[in-house]
Amino acid sequence: MGTKSRQLHVFFFPFVAPGHMIPMLDMAKLFTTRGVKATIITTPFNVPIVVKTIERTKTRGNGVVKIDIQTIEYPAVDTGLPEGCENTDSRTIHEKMTSFITAPAMLRQPLEQLLQNHDHPDCIVADMFFPWVIDAAAKFGIPVLVFNSTSVFSTSAGVSMRQYEPQMKVSSDSEPFVIPNFPDEIKLTRRKLPTFSDNKYVQALFSDFTKEVGESEVRSYGVVLNSFYELEPAYANHYTKVCGRKAWYIGPVSLCNKEAEDKGQRGKESSIDNHECLKWLNTKNINSVVYICFGSLANFNDSQLTEIAMGLEASGQQFIWVVRKDKKEKEDEDWLPKGFEKRMEGKGLIIRGWAPQVLILDHEAVGGFVTHCGWNSILEGVTAGVPMVTWPTFGDQFLNEKLVTEVLKIGVPVGVQQSYFEMSGNDSPIKKEAIEKAVRQLLESADQAKEMRSRVKELGKMARRAIEKGGSSYSHLNALIEELKALDG
Ligand code: UDP
Repeated sequence: MGTKSRQLHVFFFPFVAPGHMIPMLDMAKLFTTRGVKATIITTPFNVPIVVKTIERTKTRGNGVVKIDIQTIEYPAVDTGLPEGCENTDSRTIHEKMTSFITAPAMLRQPLEQLLQNHDHPDCIVADMFFPWVIDAAAKFGIPVLVFNSTSVFSTSAGVSMRQYEPQMKVSSDSEPFVIPNFPDEIKLTRRKLPTFSDNKYVQALFSDFTKEVGESEVRSYGVVLNSFYELEPAYANHYTKVCGRKAWYIGPVSLCNKEAEDKGQRGKESSIDNHECLKWLNTKNINSVVYICFGSLANFNDSQLTEIAMGLEASGQQFIWVVRKDKKEKEDEDWLPKGFEKRMEGKGLIIRGWAPQVLILDHEAVGGFVTHCGWNSILEGVTAGVPMVTWPTFGDQFLNEKLVTEVLKIGVPVGVQQSYFEMSGNDSPIKKEAIEKAVRQLLESADQAKEMRSRVKELGKMARRAIEKGGSSYSHLNALIEELKALDG
């Protein structure tokens, strides 16, 4: 132990929402390409998702190190989670928001048990939403790296707002304030803050929790982020120098999926045959299709879905639209305008459920992305070189929107003014005219669209360079691995 040549062993402990799990599994794959042994810690419920995502690494004979799985179980007490619902994906938004903070902490004892009985890893990469892992691992002298699953821009904004509380100095939820001591002048309102909720209990719960998460970054060995230095250099410098965090930018981690099969295997089973989807896209011209997807959590009510359908039709553009509808919901789809799918035949594709997002975004026919601004989606859009219409729903998404539209200038906002955890509670949907206008702005060759496209294409090239040998993310990961090897194991 302690020699530079020894093989590192790293535990990866992902939070169970797809937006956290998918990038952490990609990250584990990335570590293994550098000879690190990786073990994924998860609950039995989530094992199939992990297996599906990593199974191809097992069959490859190219020297890729195997990834193991270790399971830990919730104690036999009431976790507040409905039976069989250990993953945020399978619960209502309200259940998700409250129990997702309290339930995971019940895994502390089982994790400690595992660490007790297992050869100690050199390090644990733990999701930011598991701040308690630092203390659990400290008992065994194991360093913890926090995986921060959002942009360094929004992370730094959170640090600034917790420190200066500009949101407390305005008189209403809609009065703008400037994020203090920040590289760019960014205006926000309380209604767009990650902690905003109509439900005061949820709001308080989240404020305390985000504080705990922020503090855990300081107490951890350091922070790993799924970003690349060239994307947010001013904020990366700010995060290190002003916020005082030790950080490594090792993304975009999705780029570890080089082949179509890998790109199409992330997260859940696609609701469409991947080859059929590509065949459909192959019939389209370059930059002629807009892709609309709101990530793995956001759900829209029927009136919002109707507005989207009408807006898309009015835009006259071709589209792939991912609609997340719970299976138990009624089959007759009142939300689709009469005859919509018939009229859109050949022109628009609706995917009900899960789409092979990276496969779609990477296709040259896709020229625009209507996104909810989840960080993975933004990064995947950047990597594919596709300009965006930003449609944030909650959490860090409004901050990510600011990065996309005001700092990087690679997207246009559709105009959402307020964070809402529960979409069906939102009675003022974005209207079809706004959707039509934003989609047209992306796909029609106005100067603004051309400029956005050329900027995002350049960033996409930078992203690819970053993870190649000698690139910034490649070097950050190397430096991190060497530093961990040098620790006294
Ligand atoms: N995703 C996908 N197909 C879908 C919906 C989402 O592959 O139909 C993937 C997407 O590529 C991304 C992740 O799920 O990697 C969603 O993460 P993001 O941070 O964008 O949003 P969240 O789901 O956390 O709100």
